[in-house]
Amino acid sequence: MQLSSTLSRRLEELPPPPGPIGMYVCGPTVYARAHIGNARPYVLACWYKRWLRERGYEVTLVHNITDVNDKIYEAAPGASAARAAEATEWYLEDVGRFGLDEVDHYPRVTDLMDEIIEFIVELIDRGFAYEVEGDVYFRVARMEEYGRLSGQRPSEVEEQEPNPLKEDPRDFALWKANKPDEDTAWDVPWGRGRPGWHIECSAMAEKLLGPAFEIHGGGLDLVFPHHENELAQSRARGHEFARIWMHNGMLRFTGEKMSKSVGNVATIAEVLDEWGPETTLVFFLTARWSSPIDYSDETMAAARARADGLREIFRNPSEPAADGAWERFQSTLDDDFNTPDALALLHEWRDHELVRRALDVFGLAALAREDEAPSAVHELARRRQEAREGRDFAEADRLRAEIETAGWDVRDDPDGYRLVPRR
Ligand SMILES: [Zn+2]
Repeated sequence: MQLSSTLSRRLEELPPPPGPIGMYVCGPTVYARAHIGNARPYVLACWYKRWLRERGYEVTLVHNITDVNDKIYEAAPGASAARAAEATEWYLEDVGRFGLDEVDHYPRVTDLMDEIIEFIVELIDRGFAYEVEGDVYFRVARMEEYGRLSGQRPSEVEEQEPNPLKEDPRDFALWKANKPDEDTAWDVPWGRGRPGWHIECSAMAEKLLGPAFEIHGGGLDLVFPHHENELAQSRARGHEFARIWMHNGMLRFTGEKMSKSVGNVATIAEVLDEWGPETTLVFFLTARWSSPIDYSDETMAAARARADGLREIFRNPSEPAADGAWERFQSTLDDDFNTPDALALLHEWRDHELVRRALDVFGLAALAREDEAPSAVHELARRRQEAREGRDFAEADRLRAEIETAGWDVRDDPDGYRLVPRR
């Protein structure tokens, strides 16, 4: 089992099954309905966990909810906690519609405040952090390997969170003193305030997965500063933290990266309303997880056609797959989780049992429902009906045999006939 890692910039081998494999994937900041780009890391993480389980691993998946953040204060002045709670429900409802449901823990910042504060106190004690007027900053100069994840030389790291009182422009906030327009705050030995964004993920990942775990995921836009800072915080504590960093490519809206500052945005709920979960999941399968993916009416229509092509397999008789078909599928996914090639293999197969098993990995079992006969079979049934009405029973029997050969039983009922799959 191999997975490419941003940190080592090469393929990394996973330990032999059963692992265990700890997986942490950064989740949303909850202040509005999440856009479809947010669904990509979620879907990828759920799929990968399902695949690891298929391959004999024990996996724990953690996906955090950022419920204290500048964006929430801005979106709901004076009511940030209520908005965060509401938007958390929206997110869980929206991603729940994919039917993948593999997340073991959805930790929230507000539930782990003690662990976050303890973490910061330890970094101050170890000389990796310092307090300035109620803020606490991480001392980047103390961390020799800083910049390795994002491929920056330590001397060239760009400035973060400008504040003239910092020791070094590169230093980033672990804790922010309370400001008048912020309606939530927690007491700490150096005053009152709330955590910075990066420290929460270090604290949550270590709390739920331990000081060293296998896989850390998230969008490519999180490499710097968010993940560089997470890694620095945990390494400063003497912990290995994540070994493999799995960054998914961005979802682009008609060629442009989607973001709320650009007008073109579709929420997860809107996309699922319009296209349904099966088409949306097939759409995500069509690109390598590490590559960008383009969302447009054209790419979604193409995904819908592919989903229909997979459904069509079950409207026709099953044919045994060639020897080694499942092994080829396995090695395609074992090799850096290559879903486009795995999807191409599925389109070649006609073996119902095998296709159903593969679709189930991606939460696409609904495509395998054998409830609709192909139009050619409906045509045979219609001709049989005519033959019966004309009392040509020999022709009717011949057509029934042809329908059965196609994998269907024709049942006569008072309104005409009904086609059911032969099992
Ligand atoms: Zn994070």
